[in-house]
Amino acid sequence: TANLAGKVVLVTAAAQGIGRATALAFARAGAKVHATDINTDALGSFGGEAGISTHRLDVLDTAAVEALITETGAVDVLFNCAGFVHAGSVLTMKDEDLDFAFDLNVKSMIRTIRAVLPGMIARKDGSIINMASVASSIKGVPNRFAYGVTKAAVIGLTKAVAADYVGDGIRCNAICPGTVESPSLESRMRAQGDYETARAAFISRQPMGRLGTPEEIADLAVYLAGATYTSGQAYAIDGGWTI
Ligand code: NAD
Repeated sequence: TANLAGKVVLVTAAAQGIGRATALAFARAGAKVHATDINTDALGSFGGEAGISTHRLDVLDTAAVEALITETGAVDVLFNCAGFVHAGSVLTMKDEDLDFAFDLNVKSMIRTIRAVLPGMIARKDGSIINMASVASSIKGVPNRFAYGVTKAAVIGLTKAVAADYVGDGIRCNAICPGTVESPSLESRMRAQGDYETARAAFISRQPMGRLGTPEEIADLAVYLAGATYTSGQAYAIDGGWTI
């Protein structure tokens, strides 16, 4: 287990799913965690968890991102976890869905990176972890056009930031999960009507025969937060989907 004692970590979309599990794992590794989300009710479930303070943050709002970083001060580790899955192909997707996907899945990360990076550069140390997906430049997935395009962009922005700041003590890596148990995955399965069939279909695309857990993804995030000899990489953690 990495030792993150003394590190200040900011997590977006931390109220549920992978973000929540990762905020808890960072805190267990000794970090001081700022867990942020728009869902303040769900953030309440951290209630008094040691090492975790919660903040409302809408990552679509540049001024709010800047204001929060002014409030928190130095951030050593940034975990950009916010993202949304739209259904549709290039022909059926709505233009407004693509615009929203770029704003939430890509530009939100640029906002938070711009806010924390000058401080990281000044301290010559920082780890930025961006949530991508294997549904991206790694793998085409049916009916996930806006998602695949934007998660590929996350890998591109990760590599661009890594290349520009590798000499300044900054590491910037992407996490690319397969299918992971989470509240939004549950709603996507329910929305398909026949829950059991939808669930079986999601499981069948994972060669390991099961969905991933948020905790398994959190382990990789904790590793990357402390890792000192890797940058610009897209880490697949996908139950064998892309073997
Ligand atoms: P989730 O989708 O269940 O939860 C998402 C969280 O994001 C919610 O708490 C929501 O309130 C928050 N959020 C939404 N809009 C926001 C905004 N504007 N500002 C701040 N927070 C906002 O969680 P999940 O399924 O674990 O997904 C988390 C990330 O992991 C996403 O980027 C997703 O694309 C990625 N991912 C998930 C899977 C999966 O199978 N679950 C696979 C690959 C990648």
